[in-house]
Amino acid sequence: SMASPALLMRVVASAYSVAEKAATIVRNVMSAGDLGIVEKAGPNDLQTKADRLVQMSICASLARKFPKVTIIGEEELPTDDVTEDLIEDGHCEEILKKPCPAQYTGIKEEELVIWVDPLDGTKEYTEGLLDHVTVLIGIAYGGKAIAGVINQPYYNYEAGANAVLGRTIWGVLGMGAFGFELTEAPAGKHIVVTTRSHSSALVNECIAALNPDHVIRVGGAGNKIIQLIEGKASAYVFASPGCKKWDTCAPEAILHAVGGKITDICGNSFQYNKEVKHMNSAGVLATLRNYDYYASRIPNTVKESLVP
Ligand code: AMP
Ligand code: MG
Ligand code: MG
Repeated sequence: SMASPALLMRVVASAYSVAEKAATIVRNVMSAGDLGIVEKAGPNDLQTKADRLVQMSICASLARKFPKVTIIGEEELPTDDVTEDLIEDGHCEEILKKPCPAQYTGIKEEELVIWVDPLDGTKEYTEGLLDHVTVLIGIAYGGKAIAGVINQPYYNYEAGANAVLGRTIWGVLGMGAFGFELTEAPAGKHIVVTTRSHSSALVNECIAALNPDHVIRVGGAGNKIIQLIEGKASAYVFASPGCKKWDTCAPEAILHAVGGKITDICGNSFQYNKEVKHMNSAGVLATLRNYDYYASRIPNTVKESLVP
């Protein structure tokens, strides 16, 4: 008889469906019109009703299926008032059919940490830049991001009423990443993608030092990794604290699954064990190809300003 699928594949298959439910919630809150915006640290650090409902949905749904997995979500919320309509019980059958990479077949629930950003790009969501928004579910084992799901609820929203709205990208290290067409950025061109709403003098100084041909300023860590894997940008450069582990875990797994690289601005890899500090204090540097080209051009003065 068929052995039952490995835990990792069951978690990814469930996370896929949970992220699709999350996307429906994100769209429904927007179309209902009452975003329920709350300022967290300040006017550039927002939480909406969608951030709250989606986090409750994702965390409660995954916790019910995988009770021993550690789940860390961005939002601080009461955990007791999750209503049954927020629970997603399904999974993606196609993912479950794929063989688990051999090095991950023995993983146990208590060894996994799931990092959840229920809505990445909240500032842009509130401003109607809807395709910047993603839902991020990152899966870590042994401190490493090994699998991830990125749902983009408003993918295609400007393509007209006949286009299919939304998509789900997923990946596992050693297996690859799916749900998009891997594309390299134009050869010989340096296109940097960076923050739209969290710039600073240092962020801009670092980008200027790279002498890019073009700079794309968009919201969301998930969205910026999508720009890399679809060839819209050649490097994601963010010389500032502000980005957290739930912003980078799922994007990192997907980028690494297709041969890319993400580190802090100083070149240190990120750790995702449950005890780790949430803030990526030394920023982000990510590429699909040519990581060394960009890393070697980050000024020492910038590196010295950012302490991991
Ligand atoms: P951005 O590229 O500005 O969209 O940032 C990517 C992620 O990091 C988003 O989840 C932001 O909310 C978060 N982030 C970056 N910088 C800051 C900041 N200064 N304060 C709060 N969140 C930030
Ligand atoms: Mg985020
Ligand atoms: Mg968020």
